[in-house]
Amino acid sequence: MSHRGILIVLSGFSGAGKGTLVNALRKKYDGYALSISATTRQPRDGEEEGKAYFFKRVEEFRRMIDEDAFIEYAQYVENYYGTPRAYVEEMLEQGKDVILEIEIQGALKVREKYPDALLMFVTTPDASTLKLRLLGRGTETAEVVSSRLARAVEEAEGIENYDYLIVNDDLDAAVEEMHGIIQGEHYRIRRN
Ligand code: 5GP
Repeated sequence: MSHRGILIVLSGFSGAGKGTLVNALRKKYDGYALSISATTRQPRDGEEEGKAYFFKRVEEFRRMIDEDAFIEYAQYVENYYGTPRAYVEEMLEQGKDVILEIEIQGALKVREKYPDALLMFVTTPDASTLKLRLLGRGTETAEVVSSRLARAVEEAEGIENYDYLIVNDDLDAAVEEMHGIIQGEHYRIRRN
């Protein structure tokens, strides 16, 4: 029987290791598609167009909003981020599980439009680990790091809207947890 894939929303504090987790998951297991978002943020060193993001000017991003090209979009710190609709729909139709790595406002919009989406939240074991990882990344100014930490405090309030919490202490363990939860979802009978 062919069936639609599961739409997986992965959120988490900036610095919690979402990107690393998704990369490790996709390296270990086949069958996951990763949605590439559009953003108005400047590329960081090493970020390639069409791999990390589709980098857009604000006018282009606004045009995409007008054309209803996004499943959801949101503002985060001072930039816009959005999930292009076409790729996600195509992958779901093909029966692939699609991962969206997005922040919390977008996650809630996805839940409204796709009630069966699986919402997962990734965190570090504690706040000091989060700060160390953010600073250690060395890609943001001190000011941006502070804004991102402030945003993390706000986002913590929204965790209750998620289905699952993954504590990314040990990467391999976190990969297994995430994969296990998604596999379990394929066997679900009852939906709320
Ligand atoms: P970063 O600038 O660190 O790449 O991303 C900042 C935040 O925006 C992260 O929480 C990331 O998950 C989120 N984000 C990335 N793409 C999207 C998107 O398409 N939509 C929404 N709502 N958030 C996104």
